[in-house]
Amino acid sequence: MALFKVENLTYYYPASAEAALKNINLEIREGEFLLLVGASGSGKSTLARVLAGLIPDFYGGKMGGRVLFKGREMRELNRRQVAREVGMVFQDPERQLVKTQVEAEVAFGLENLGLPLPEMRRRVAEVLAFMGLEPVKGSFTAHLSGGQKQKLALASVLAMQPRVLVLDEPTSQLDPASAEEILQLVRRLNEETGLTVVLAEQRLERCLHLADRVILLARGEVVCEGRPAEVAQEIAGADPLLLPPVARFFTRLGVSPVPITVKEGRQILLGRLRPEGGPAGKPTPAPAKNSPVRGGNPAAVEMQGVWYTYPQGNEALKGVSLNLQKGEFAVILGAN
Ligand code: ADP
Ligand code: MG
Repeated sequence: MALFKVENLTYYYPASAEAALKNINLEIREGEFLLLVGASGSGKSTLARVLAGLIPDFYGGKMGGRVLFKGREMRELNRRQVAREVGMVFQDPERQLVKTQVEAEVAFGLENLGLPLPEMRRRVAEVLAFMGLEPVKGSFTAHLSGGQKQKLALASVLAMQPRVLVLDEPTSQLDPASAEEILQLVRRLNEETGLTVVLAEQRLERCLHLADRVILLARGEVVCEGRPAEVAQEIAGADPLLLPPVARFFTRLGVSPVPITVKEGRQILLGRLRPEGGPAGKPTPAPAKNSPVRGGNPAAVEMQGVWYTYPQGNEALKGVSLNLQKGEFAVILGAN
């Protein structure tokens, strides 16, 4: 069963004649990393608010269609339960922080859940350590940098141990290094703990490749959805300025499918320069076990049938053959 199911959702803000969302249908699976993209005013924040259960409760307005969370209508669910399971981080962390001190901020949401004190202390310590906020746990929130404030907003939400994290342009106030750090943390949470992530973003260079699925919105409607590379292709036709620079560059060259990371772009270029290389844009297949040859670049390291015995007599290598290509990132795996 889908975690969220949105059926024929149309929504008008109070006193607005134009619908902010029009006939939206979508499903979100547990553990998925979903990216909402689109130009400013396309409805990303509005859809994020719907998923977090804030629309229509806090914003009012008129809503048509249904939003199901775990098979039940969102509006029939207890507010507290929704807040506990769906955590939302807003664009501007200043507006989200309610306490003056870092630890108190993280504890605030937990106090509202009525957790026993030892459990609360444990969760606060855990989440501060995870977010790298341990050194500033006693600080005034007003003294934190923008990146630290955004991390604190995220920490306060994570302390509640939600199943879903909805993030509305969480990096728009941040410098590139802090933005990268926040997105890597979110990616780790998604990969390592299975947290479902819905990320609304306008600037895609840091996040397009992180998503399992991308939904492109325009004027309140879903224009297309699919894997990042598929949607990148669509965006290239509709609004190339939304694309990460590497994808935009290759779009101009008329390359299809459009690469979405620098690494993919480089592989396409290498593939085109290569005399008998594989088809451009396709990842090189993994070599067979001990396969000495692999098409493409000249090898940087080539080993064939290498045996090695330490002076004490330990046979450490027994006929190892392998090729490492220039620029390749290889992992050598095995027990101690
Ligand atoms: P995005 O996040 O993609 O920039 P929004 O969801 O904020 O888009 O906006 C979608 C539409 O809803 C826009 O026309 C916007 O003006 C309108 N809108 C957004 N927030 C509000 C609000 N709080 N009250 C009234 N209209 C709003
Ligand atoms: Mg927005």
